[in-house]
Amino acid sequence: MLNLILFGPPGSGKGTQASKLVDKYSLLHISTGDLFRYNMKNDTPLGIEAKSYIEKGDLVPDSVTINMLKAKVNENSDVPGYIFDGFPRTIAQAEALDNFLAKKDLAVSGLLALDVPDEELIKRLLERGKDSGRADDQDENIIANRIETYNNETAPVFGFYEKQKRANKVDGVGSIEEIFERLCAMIFWMKR
Ligand code: ADP
Repeated sequence: MLNLILFGPPGSGKGTQASKLVDKYSLLHISTGDLFRYNMKNDTPLGIEAKSYIEKGDLVPDSVTINMLKAKVNENSDVPGYIFDGFPRTIAQAEALDNFLAKKDLAVSGLLALDVPDEELIKRLLERGKDSGRADDQDENIIANRIETYNNETAPVFGFYEKQKRANKVDGVGSIEEIFERLCAMIFWMKR
């Protein structure tokens, strides 16, 4: 099984690249951001709880996020692999994911981190906010908080997988196709 973590700050292109990787490797795409947005749109109790954090640019609490992720994996066990997009975003989430997969005799094959400078991220997010309808992409203060939260809480997750020699950095600046080729090259080495 090929189980990938697509990692990087908000606006680094995880969603765009995830959908291309899904096509090429037939993986199941699990985006915690998309799952939260689906629940918010449908006003589910999970969506209502998540909204109060997301609209500030804060992380949704680990327990809520981890349970949602586990449920999604458990509902879809018969797949060639998973691509986790936007998860894990904290060390606690990374530990929970490793333990959860280990119980199923599975493991994370590798983490692919998209490297993009902050100025480029802000530009991309504001551009996306013009037509995505995402409130968290339309306000510079919320964007700044998301990037700060990423640096404080999420960036250490790279080190967690680096210690296990499963973290890989990819230049996330260039055309969508160029970045995709870089990711595929990494996956080729990962699968050997
Ligand atoms: P982006 O990567 O562009 O910031 P996402 O769609 O991945 O956007 O996530 C949107 C928001 O959903 C995040 O800012 C955060 O509030 C919440 N969220 C998504 N994934 C997680 C997670 N793994 N843990 C906690 N909160 C999350």
